Amino acid sequence: MAKRDRRRAEADFDLDSDDEREAGPPPACWLCLRPLGEKVDQYHPVPKSKGGRATVPLHPICRRTIETVFTNAELARTAGNRDTLIDHPEIVRFLGWVAEKAPDFDAPTAPRRKR
Ligand SMILES: [Zn+2]
Repeated sequence: MAKRDRRRAEADFDLDSDDEREAGPPPACWLCLRPLGEKVDQYHPVPKSKGGRATVPLHPICRRTIETVFTNAELARTAGNRDTLIDHPEIVRFLGWVAEKAPDFDAPTAPRRKR
C-alpha cells in the first residue's frame, strides 16, 4: 500500500524525545491530533509487556479506541508507528467521527475486540 504515507506524522511525534518540554505548542493527542483536554492518558503505543518504554499523550477515548481495535500483540507489531495504526479502517472511521468533537468529549466505546 501507500508506502510514501508511512512517515507522514512522525516528524510531529518524536517518541524518543524525553527532554523536558518547555512552553511550546499546546500538546496534541498522538492519535487524533486534536488538542488534549483535561484528562490525558499517557499511553504505551508498544505495550510495556512487549518492551515498550515510550509513552504518548492520548485522549481517554482515543486510548480506548486503540485498545478496542488492536490486541497487545498487534500493537507490538506496529512498533509504535502511528501511521500503521491510522491505516486501520476502524481507526480511519473513528478519526473522521471524533475530528469535530470537543477536546474533553468522551463517550462509551463499544467493546468489540475481535479474536
Ligand atoms: Zn485523541
